[in-house]
Amino acid sequence: MELLESVNRPSSATILVIDDEARIRDACTIVLSDRGFTVASAADGEEGLAMIRNEHFDIVLVDLMMPTISGFDVLSEVRKNHPDTVVIVITGYATLEHSIEAMKKGAFDFIPKPFTPDQLRAVVDKSLQYTNALQDIAESRSRLRVMVNRLTEGVLTTDMNKRIVQANPAFLHMIGYHGEDVIGRSVSDVIDNETILEAIDQTLAMTSATFAEITNELTFSDNGGEKYYSNRCSPFLSNAGTNLGTITVLHDITALKKIDQMKTDFVSMVSHEIRSPMNSLLMQLKIIRDGLAGEVTEKQQEILDRASEKILNLNNLVTELLDLSRIESGLISHEKEMVDITQLLKDQQKFHTPYADKNNITIHLEIAENLPPILANQQNIEEVFSNLITNAIKYSPKNTSIKIGAVVENEYLKINVTDSGFGIAEEDLKNIFNRFYRVKNATTRNIQGTGLGLAIVKSIVESHHGSIRVESKPGDGSTFTVKLPTALA
Ligand code: ADP
Repeated sequence: MELLESVNRPSSATILVIDDEARIRDACTIVLSDRGFTVASAADGEEGLAMIRNEHFDIVLVDLMMPTISGFDVLSEVRKNHPDTVVIVITGYATLEHSIEAMKKGAFDFIPKPFTPDQLRAVVDKSLQYTNALQDIAESRSRLRVMVNRLTEGVLTTDMNKRIVQANPAFLHMIGYHGEDVIGRSVSDVIDNETILEAIDQTLAMTSATFAEITNELTFSDNGGEKYYSNRCSPFLSNAGTNLGTITVLHDITALKKIDQMKTDFVSMVSHEIRSPMNSLLMQLKIIRDGLAGEVTEKQQEILDRASEKILNLNNLVTELLDLSRIESGLISHEKEMVDITQLLKDQQKFHTPYADKNNITIHLEIAENLPPILANQQNIEEVFSNLITNAIKYSPKNTSIKIGAVVENEYLKINVTDSGFGIAEEDLKNIFNRFYRVKNATTRNIQGTGLGLAIVKSIVESHHGSIRVESKPGDGSTFTVKLPTALA
């Protein structure tokens, strides 16, 4: 489609006809001028070459057999010094050998004498179509290059040998490179950030079955301040789906990081400020409830109990907010150790049994033998399962049971917490890991909570390079599945 359009453009192409036969020169000039081309002619190779050196021609039609300088000589000079010019050779006595040799030396096409005006028009149109297509490609490439160079995102493309094909100014600025031209150089000569280099290595090692985008976060020191970039590296695929190289995109997320930090600091500060007066309120209420400030009637006792309960709920909310802000500011999981999940789950079962017993709910363990340990922060992982088990108890009716299963799957431990409780409706499932999201319906309305538990669970699991998902059906129950990488992986 594009090629056809190229040919149909009004043409202002310039053509040079070099032939020692005046008859041919004149015939070509008439036919091609009629078609709207600007046509010049030369009677021998020497004159032709002089003209080519002086001005640009889109097409040169040259007779192969001429005295002094042959058409072959003209062809090689044009190929060497005028790559944008297309050469069509005119072969005097239709020898196929000469035509083939000319094509090998870079002629675009040949036309055997004698030829009709139609044959001449056809061969010239075809070459013009070719030059226009080349021009189109060159134009769109340069348009693309300008566009990429103006992007505020850093963009780097490499070939399969880790040679740089393109690196825009934003990319070089972000990695702090101020040296010479980088095109064609190896990435490791230009980039000294290990994370970027590793992502490129991993991307090049991908097979078509594993093509994916690698994302990570980079921190650069910039004149005393820190700069944060998100790094995305993916394979550069051909139309046939094979890998041609890599494309890396750096995005400056420093401002986002700062806002996030401010929000975390704010939550943390507010939580602290609220917690102390609340604790003191609770203490004072306790003094009154215990009768230490005078006698309390049954009605007063009831009101004070309710007030204390509300304060306790608020206290829980603040504790969870603090946990979340701690997680988000990166304070968790720094101290990792080998954690024995089997023991941890047994302890959790024991810990939650009294609460479950109150509702006549039983907790079963189904743990595969000899589970490998995980490298994790013990307290964080306890928090994950404590939250999931508490929810399983909270959102189940009396006289039901909860099953906790753990198995190894590939290089992960897969731990399921399954209840046969109220379940979660399809439309709520995608939201339950969001902060403060609580399902409100007739069954759950009176169940206390903050809507932060699962957000905390998800943050912890992800900071341990794991994942969490949920399957649930209202009325049937829910299964939360946590996957954590084993330490031996
Ligand atoms: P909270 O329990 O404090 O409300 P969570 O973040 O732990 O907050 O849970 C979010 C919501 O997800 C809950 O309000 C509840 O509606 C739903 N949910 C969580 N776990 C379960 C479960 N095991 N069964 C049914 N619903 C659940």
